Amino acid sequence: MSISEENLPYKEKIELKSWPNSTDIDSYRKMHGKSLENIEEHWANVAKELDWFKPWDKVLVADPQPPFYKWFVGGKLNASYLAVDRHANTWRRNKLAIIWEGEPTDSSGNPLEVRKLTYYDLYREVNRLAYAIRSKLGLRKGDTVTIYLPMIPELPILMLALARLGVIFSVVFSGFSAQALADRVMDAKSKVIFTADAFWRRGKVVRLKEVVDEALKGIQFVEKVVVFRRMGLKDTPMVNGRDIWWDELLSDVPMNTYVKPEEIESEHPLYILYTSGTTGKPKGIVHDTGGYMTLLHATMKWVFDIKDTDVYWCTADIGWVTGHSYIVFGPLMEGVTEVMYEGAPDYPTPDRWWRIVERYGVTILYTSPTAIRTFMRYGDDWVKGHDFSTIRILHSVGEPINPEAWKWAWKWLGRGSVPFGSTWWMTETGGILISHAPGLALIPLKPGTNGLPLPGIDADVVDDEGKPVQGKRGYLVIKKPWPGMLMTIWGDPNRYIQVYWSRFPGMYYAGDWAIKDEDGYIWVLGRADEVIKVSGHRLGTYEIESALVSHKAVAESAVVGVPDPVRGEVPVAFVVLKSGVNPSQELVKELRNWVRTAIGPIAEPANIVFVSKLPKTRSGKIMRRLLKQVLMKQPLGDTTTLEDETSIDEAKKAYEELA
Ligand code: ATP
Ligand code: MG
Repeated sequence: MSISEENLPYKEKIELKSWPNSTDIDSYRKMHGKSLENIEEHWANVAKELDWFKPWDKVLVADPQPPFYKWFVGGKLNASYLAVDRHANTWRRNKLAIIWEGEPTDSSGNPLEVRKLTYYDLYREVNRLAYAIRSKLGLRKGDTVTIYLPMIPELPILMLALARLGVIFSVVFSGFSAQALADRVMDAKSKVIFTADAFWRRGKVVRLKEVVDEALKGIQFVEKVVVFRRMGLKDTPMVNGRDIWWDELLSDVPMNTYVKPEEIESEHPLYILYTSGTTGKPKGIVHDTGGYMTLLHATMKWVFDIKDTDVYWCTADIGWVTGHSYIVFGPLMEGVTEVMYEGAPDYPTPDRWWRIVERYGVTILYTSPTAIRTFMRYGDDWVKGHDFSTIRILHSVGEPINPEAWKWAWKWLGRGSVPFGSTWWMTETGGILISHAPGLALIPLKPGTNGLPLPGIDADVVDDEGKPVQGKRGYLVIKKPWPGMLMTIWGDPNRYIQVYWSRFPGMYYAGDWAIKDEDGYIWVLGRADEVIKVSGHRLGTYEIESALVSHKAVAESAVVGVPDPVRGEVPVAFVVLKSGVNPSQELVKELRNWVRTAIGPIAEPANIVFVSKLPKTRSGKIMRRLLKQVLMKQPLGDTTTLEDETSIDEAKKAYEELA
């Protein structure tokens, strides 16, 4: 039997009749089609809803030539003004902006540290910090700095203070190693670093400042390191003349300090952010100001249906693009009350997140497949009995969500009744491009799909020749520029052209493998370079993984292809079992048969390797390329983004024992 599209688990459709904006898919398609007739007009109408100091002269300019695009040229605005001043000067002044929870709890699981900041608090803190940064550190518009901070309110405050001055920042995730930090500091040529003494993670003290010192050993050009006292550790090493305490920087800055926001050109870079490094060396993605804020405004409304009554929680870390766009700039621009949490999802118990949802009455939850699969592995007892009645919208991001994981989250967190989508986007796209849009018009849900491209987004799936294909796997492309798109790769414009615009002429190449089904829904199946070819058939590793995850014994799985003299390539599956399940030869047989029945004989894994964890990026994405290198006995390449080195050693050992 050969694999056919019929075998894909894409037939289930769920209509939410109770949702106020549900619509038939034809009306949505019409609206989408109309938006593409004139994308400039479409996006200008969205951009008008932001506050501009000066309106733009031209909506879209290719400068100096495609694929270098500039949005809203001639327009001036300020992201910090949009996120704080706009609210601090209205009735939202006393509305809560951020509810922050630190990780430590008392013996009954209640948080020991909670901070609540209103929009007026935020406004004051942003202004004071901006003043200190300008007057004491001498930073000016166009300078670059690196931020290496944990999930504390000072992180968004700092990003907004820098945006106020037009200082370009690069946030490095606080879980990164000294080497990864050093690489990023050097690439961005930052003269100033912002960090903290330490923070809590899974009950342990993570000493951040010491990592900075290690990273800066070989770097001469860093002039200042500003250190926030998150833990107040007494023995934090400070380098004389270079290091300053954050509180000392602010000590003589009056509470009512006001710094007029710079009038920033729309195309001025807001930040640089390095991609997750799932597939190789991370790229320094550069985002503009005007286009980026426009896309965030649109998606906060369309995808999250954001209202003043919401309590919004995006569980990502601000160190990733999801946090930049959907914890800092998007929600705060909309005047949202949002939750921010410092620590690990399962600390001290696997229901930590659900207690947070209950405590603050979270209404919108934006999370990831890796988190959902982790909670599934702990079993239903940890979700049972928690109150999810406040949740009205769920969304996922980061990786394809296996239908099984979707169903689990929808049943428990979504009570089988709320809109739940898998929002597709990348660091490069700035914001969500393919998604369900319950704030605009909700089309039927399908477990695991990404849904339809948002209005103004010309996304499509094409074959090797660049011709559109439907009902067949192909490559995800975007055929027209969109606001929020990356401007370039920092310091490497040729790599920008080569990576994104060279595969198919005139189209943005996402590097993802996808299928467009008969309704036009897009299903991103994983990375284009992770596809395996068995006896001439191309298989997405994710489809085999999803089949495995749908087996009751399996929590997570990663599939990679290895060369086979007869069949070209064969799949090998790494499998993490659910808590309490033991590996056995019978189970191997059962799982191989399971895949055979679910997808077809060619998908049957040649080997099943049981492990206790999978190699993942620090943002929780499975790093299949490392597993492949283990199987091929090749050098691992760039592993700075790998969360846990022991996962690779374990995979190696388990595989060798099989052979
Ligand atoms: P690198 O580019 O360094 O290899 P990365 O691609 O993992 O790292 P990100 O920009 O964080 O860095 O991730 C974007 C990628 O994540 C997308 O290209 C896609 O493969 C995957 N992705 C994100 N959201 C979804 C989703 N909802 N469904 C399927 N895949 C998704
Ligand atoms: Mg990528």
